[in-house]
Amino acid sequence: MIKVLKIDEKLEKYISDHSYDLHPVQKEIIKHNDSLGVSKRMQISVTQAYFFQLFIKTNKIKNILEIGTFTGYSALSMGLSIPDDGRITCLDINKETSETARDFFKKANLDKKIEIILGPAMNSLKKLINDKKIFDMIFIDADKENYRNYYNLSLEIVKNNGFILVDNVLWKGDVADPNKKDELTNAIREFNSFIKQDDRIEKTILPLGDGVTICRKI
Ligand code: SAM
Ligand code: CA
Repeated sequence: MIKVLKIDEKLEKYISDHSYDLHPVQKEIIKHNDSLGVSKRMQISVTQAYFFQLFIKTNKIKNILEIGTFTGYSALSMGLSIPDDGRITCLDINKETSETARDFFKKANLDKKIEIILGPAMNSLKKLINDKKIFDMIFIDADKENYRNYYNLSLEIVKNNGFILVDNVLWKGDVADPNKKDELTNAIREFNSFIKQDDRIEKTILPLGDGVTICRKI
């Protein structure tokens, strides 16, 4: 049995070449993000997006909340998989990347289905709770220091049997390296330990992209 499979760029491309074709606007976002230099790393991987799309379809997910949208790759990918009456609500604090994302949603004719609420996600989440909104799935991918806060609030607005997906939980593998003691690595470690003991959910960590935790609210 293979113990370690390193997904490098070549293998990621191979997976992509042997999965379904990307939507033209997905390709455009990837190209745009490539031109941004280091911030390109913010985008979820192509293989992650394939998995999210299949996950959404198999679980008949309609209403999604995304916390952390950047230029829109993950939201647009999910938007392509929800039914006509589905909706994606995105929370992000960055006006400029949100405008870029909105342009891409429009280009893909998804602007009626995907909205971005601009501002600190904690404020927007509290408002969604006040407004009694309920989601089938929530994807957390914003500032890592707030993951636990986002997760706790998300549990209030995800339906029973709904899902919370959390990105970057393996943090380049640093979470398992005792020599890494920086603040962000510790924040992710603390979050992972918190999730481990939380019996409000069932969960597993998938080594997909930078690591994704999938939680099902019981
Ligand atoms: N999911 C996106 C994708 O796959 O392309 C990537 C999201 S990126 C890793 C994180 C995003 O979180 C950034 O766009 C950033 O502006 C946003 N963000 C950071 N702190 C935030 C906060 N306090 N409230 C709302 N959004 C925040
Ligand atoms: Ca991420």
